[in-house]
Amino acid sequence: MRINCPCCGERGIDEFSYYGDATVTRPDLTSPTAMAEFVAYAFERANIPGPHRELWYHAAGCHLWLVVTRNIATHEILSVESARDVALARNANAKGSA
Ligand SMILES: [Zn+2]
Repeated sequence: MRINCPCCGERGIDEFSYYGDATVTRPDLTSPTAMAEFVAYAFERANIPGPHRELWYHAAGCHLWLVVTRNIATHEILSVESARDVALARNANAKGSA
């Protein structure tokens, strides 16, 4: 498997580290229901075959955090985005809907 890093170009998977599901948000640990929310955050996954957004880190390259959309049934990589750009877009959308 190869990942097309937006900074470095296409590189082998051995240069990257997988950091998990990019669709979940760490819960607020000060919430009264924090324990249940954290258990769901850490352990409950649908694991449905098809496209899935994952967090990757280019450890042996530019050190960029990436959001990789990958078909987990075929391993086909559908898109690669800078995690920073994804977070900025998410925050802008959150402000727009507030
Ligand atoms: Zn890179």
